[in-house]
Amino acid sequence: LTHPPPPRVAIIGSGPAGFYAAGKMLKDEPALRVDMYEALPVPYGLVRYGVAPDHPEVKNCTSRFTEIASDPRFTFIGNLRIGADVPLHSLQTHYSALLLAYGAARDRRLHIPGEDLQGVYSARDFVAWYNGHPSASSLSPLLDAPDAVVIGQGNVALDVARILLSPVDALRRTDMPEYALQALAESRVRNVRLVGRRGVMQAAWTIKEVRELLTLEGAGVVPVPRAMLPENTKVLPRAQRRIADLLVKHTAEPAPGDRVARLDFLRSPVELRPDNASLGRVGSVKFQVNEYVPGADPLDPSARVQAVDAPEEVVPANAVFRSIGYAAEPIAGLDEAGVGFDGRRGLIPNAEGRVKGPGGEEVGGVYVAGWVKRGPTGVIASTMADGFASADTVVNDLRAGLGLGGTGLGWEGVRKEVEGKGVMWTGWREWEAIDEVERERGKALGKEREKIVDIEEMLRVAGR
Ligand code: FAD
Repeated sequence: LTHPPPPRVAIIGSGPAGFYAAGKMLKDEPALRVDMYEALPVPYGLVRYGVAPDHPEVKNCTSRFTEIASDPRFTFIGNLRIGADVPLHSLQTHYSALLLAYGAARDRRLHIPGEDLQGVYSARDFVAWYNGHPSASSLSPLLDAPDAVVIGQGNVALDVARILLSPVDALRRTDMPEYALQALAESRVRNVRLVGRRGVMQAAWTIKEVRELLTLEGAGVVPVPRAMLPENTKVLPRAQRRIADLLVKHTAEPAPGDRVARLDFLRSPVELRPDNASLGRVGSVKFQVNEYVPGADPLDPSARVQAVDAPEEVVPANAVFRSIGYAAEPIAGLDEAGVGFDGRRGLIPNAEGRVKGPGGEEVGGVYVAGWVKRGPTGVIASTMADGFASADTVVNDLRAGLGLGGTGLGWEGVRKEVEGKGVMWTGWREWEAIDEVERERGKALGKEREKIVDIEEMLRVAGR
């Protein structure tokens, strides 16, 4: 009697979406095996490379991920980029189902003149730099002058402002790499302006991050003019009311000597202008002033704005960080695999996690989870819920016999295809070796870990 091979699922990406989906599938379907492919030798996606170093408690989810990885039915394959090192269709040959959980690795651009001047950075690159991402460790942001502008008012914008304004000693015990600590210790940034296109009630931030900025040691936040804030906050939904109340109560002007943050609303950047003294470097930002469109309710989180016929404003900016959102990109081979991509929204179109082809038809056996599914919004908790939902769809489809068929060989089949091609893939054991060295180096410096930022060095300490 021959038994059909156990269902094997390939997950692409080792962030929270991939891990939570893996855990749910392994729990719900005892026969199932999961192979997780990750482009870097190290796991966890934005938990390692996005979440701010001064939010260590947020990274506690990695202990759950370690537990999932210890399941004998789970295999981690690191340093293998799907679409580059292995074509997506090879995975389709060897698995019962594919779950794309590769996140959002691009950032949105402003599309205004001056965006490529020196001193203009995407928040994504700056965040990756202070978190020691191998692709951004050489960014060397110019922090040698007082005025910085952050364009955008989401939590990532607040992270950027907080890191720029924090006393560096408060960051030394975090897992921020030494090179970033040194650059921040030498930073001369004193004034950070966070600028939003719309009003207070349309900003996409959450209370924890706003409060952190308001209470930051050694820094003051210029109070938001009362006229910008709702007259009666009691009518607002709870989350918005709490933020509005916080801003209404915050009336203390920055103390002398403080580093200063300022929240500007109803302003859209129209041009990044060069500094007259050092050509090629940004010196100021020109903003257009906005107002609500007629009939819009300023308390409505989706209220729209339009330009006012008023003189533009120019503010000094020796460094500019654009923080207007991440976006997913299509990985190579999506189209051959029959998978569509919504370039405008920066995500893979899907119904309950089942991906759709370019014509809107469902593509059997291929699924999405996390930021590449929903677009780049939402905290780890919402990504977890979303990973669980996609996992349920995969398991239900497999139970209904809707798998890809395939050879059932999984990683053993894919491995045959990459062997001899010079691809230096790594496993969980290699990650554990890297983790251990990072923790040891951290201990010597009095911090949680000192991240290894160079991929060659990661592979070396892992014995590859
Ligand atoms: P990701 O975490 O991005 O994981 C995707 C993974 O896929 C990455 O490891 C990537 O290397 C890998 N990958 C990409 N392409 C390929 C490929 N071709 N082949 C193989 N692997 C590939 N949430 C909170 O709850 N609290 C916070 O404090 C918080 N702070 C944040 C700060 C920042 C700056 C950002 C950007 C986000 C923050 N979030 C926070 C949100 C949280 O990080 C996301 O909700 C979550 O990480 C999204 O998970 P994901 O698995 O979809 O994507």
